[in-house]
Amino acid sequence: MKPPICCICHKRLDYPDDGGLIYFKKRQSDKEWQKTMEKKGMVGHPPYAEWFCEIHYEKAKELKNLTIDEAMGILKD
Ligand SMILES: [Zn+2]
Repeated sequence: MKPPICCICHKRLDYPDDGGLIYFKKRQSDKEWQKTMEKKGMVGHPPYAEWFCEIHYEKAKELKNLTIDEAMGILKD
């Protein structure tokens, strides 16, 4: 897992008190990543998950049915 730092404003989170990790809809490449990790018995930070501070968490949560690319495009706007 990546350290808990908001991917929008780079604020360091006091997890679990503020913000959290959002898992977005998996892209084809994310499904392949997961399959590879499972096959190798490895764990890592999923490429479709990101940390959000308390300011950005609610908005990000509304977009979790999108892929991370789509959601980040909206969030960083
Ligand atoms: Zn933030």
